[in-house]
Amino acid sequence: MADSEPKASIRMDTVPGASARVHNFIRHIIDADLKTGKYAVRQWSGQPGPGEQQKVGAGDAPQEVPLRDTAKIRTRFPPEPNGYLHFGHAKSICLNFGLAQDYAGACHLRFDDTNPEKEEQEYVDSIIDAVHWLGFDWRFGEETNQYFASNYFQWMYDFAEKLIEAGHAYVDSQSAEEMRASRGTLTEAGKNSPFRTRTPAENLDLFRRMRAGEFADGTHILRAKIDMASGNINLRDPAIYRIRHATHHNTGDAWCIYPMYTYAHPIEDALENITHSICTLEFEDQRPFYDWLLARLAELGCINTPPPQQIEFSRLNLSYVVLSKRKLIHLVEEKHVDGWDDPRLPTLVGARRRGFTPEAFRRFNEMNGVTKSDSWIDISVLEECQREHLNETAPRRIAVLDPLKLIIDNYPEDQEEECLAPNHPQKPDWGKRVVPFSKELWIEREDFMEVPSKGYFRLFPGNSVRLRYGFVIKCLDCDKDAVGNISAVHCEYMPDSKSGTPGSDNYKVKGNIHWVSARHAHAGEIRLYDRLFAVAAPGAEGRDFIADLNPDSKRVISAQLEASLQNAAAEDRFQFERHGYFVADRIDSRPGAPVFNRSVTLKDGWK
Ligand code: ATP
Ligand code: MG
Repeated sequence: MADSEPKASIRMDTVPGASARVHNFIRHIIDADLKTGKYAVRQWSGQPGPGEQQKVGAGDAPQEVPLRDTAKIRTRFPPEPNGYLHFGHAKSICLNFGLAQDYAGACHLRFDDTNPEKEEQEYVDSIIDAVHWLGFDWRFGEETNQYFASNYFQWMYDFAEKLIEAGHAYVDSQSAEEMRASRGTLTEAGKNSPFRTRTPAENLDLFRRMRAGEFADGTHILRAKIDMASGNINLRDPAIYRIRHATHHNTGDAWCIYPMYTYAHPIEDALENITHSICTLEFEDQRPFYDWLLARLAELGCINTPPPQQIEFSRLNLSYVVLSKRKLIHLVEEKHVDGWDDPRLPTLVGARRRGFTPEAFRRFNEMNGVTKSDSWIDISVLEECQREHLNETAPRRIAVLDPLKLIIDNYPEDQEEECLAPNHPQKPDWGKRVVPFSKELWIEREDFMEVPSKGYFRLFPGNSVRLRYGFVIKCLDCDKDAVGNISAVHCEYMPDSKSGTPGSDNYKVKGNIHWVSARHAHAGEIRLYDRLFAVAAPGAEGRDFIADLNPDSKRVISAQLEASLQNAAAEDRFQFERHGYFVADRIDSRPGAPVFNRSVTLKDGWK
């Protein structure tokens, strides 16, 4: 078997520990933490919660032995359920779940739904599906580890009261403009708010009244009390709670104040006993606040220790696509594509419909490694990963995409016979299948030229080619319709030339073309997808990104398909010989009538 494996198909995803060989600086941090035992003393009740809840032995029945967290590390993937996941999210998913797998840890799926703006069940469901589709799961032993950040609102509120009592937070009643004006600039310190000297008692009273709904949106805000002169603007008394009279999808009208993301996120991590909180580089400037907040909450006994640490990596930038939710929404809403799962979109639902494989996504992310420097990756790298995996896993079939009738004049009308075609050229153990042969066949229109161009060695009058897995034929002439278009090609076949029979090698021909028997083939819809954008950086240099759309990104054709394809089930993947990799569409295919999407061509045609 080993020699029959194509060279290109190194199955990284099946090689244990293979990922460790690829550059990933986060592994060095984790290795060091495991060596020093930094998180080894953490306690964990099995449920997210504040510090005291994690201490087994607290309360009436103290136990001698604290319950240690058996997860060596804890990471999380924290999407906001306000859209469909895209290829950028796949990087974060592969990274967080992959690290947990490799280090005998847990990775939580946390819906970051602290923003009362609309969040929908549809998105929650699609995110769960997408992470599962990529091959990951959030269970760890008995733990389910699927969480909603909005379930932590009460703890977040309680911690805010603790911060106020300790003098670490105050209620500011300046207008938004006043606050902006006193924030300072990169080179200039900010100015203290006149409300900064409010006593903890005053602040607590105001904060409780904010929570009770006494004030309108924007009239007061809770701020951390740090340093208005800090060189890092994020430490100049950042806002941590705002008034927002809005209904939340989970908590309804229970709250009219909501935590800011920068306050909520570190607390979510701490409540869940996360060890390594991995995020994209734009949060680097927030790390000092992340650390400040968790240090104060640890001092106050609110959270488990040691607190989680934030680690930033560079996000995935991919050529020929857009990876911003805002732009993706625009494409869908303005109907430039056929919905979120349009196979041309860089969404995971789109990729699935396109026939991309989760294995190839994981391989792609392993290959790229994880760094702190921003870089662009060409989409052809992802396509090549897909091609490699599909080459290895997709059975071969025959489809004629632009059919032209071929008539074998010396083959009897009522005769037919069987030819044998291998299911995979490098995998003899996959066997062969029968492809029927008869007098009338379909071939590709481009495989015939009445007047051949230089170097053309397929069919033209007087020339011979091999019908792949069948006979050698010699071209005689062609028929034309009333307007002069070629309607059929005539040829004669050599009965002693059948592939696999003795003597078939006696014929030396240059061309080798594919075909299906007209009597046995069936017509089927095929969608030929290409890149959605015609340029590598859509919307660069001030252009409207819509102007960069590729007008030929989708073409629907009717092809002639090998009989066995009629039974293809949704999501079955094939290589159509000479054409590329195709998948039976999971939405539009019907029993006995699959519709095929082209996943990727056989070669990169963009160079
Ligand atoms: P977008 O910027 O497209 O709106 P987002 O980051 O706001 O995406 P979230 O739902 O908050 O969307 O993302 C969930 C996680 O996915 C975050 O931890 C985020 O860092 C990560 N993520 C998003 N885009 C990328 C990317 N291009 N590369 C790597 N990770 C990403
Ligand atoms: Mg976000």
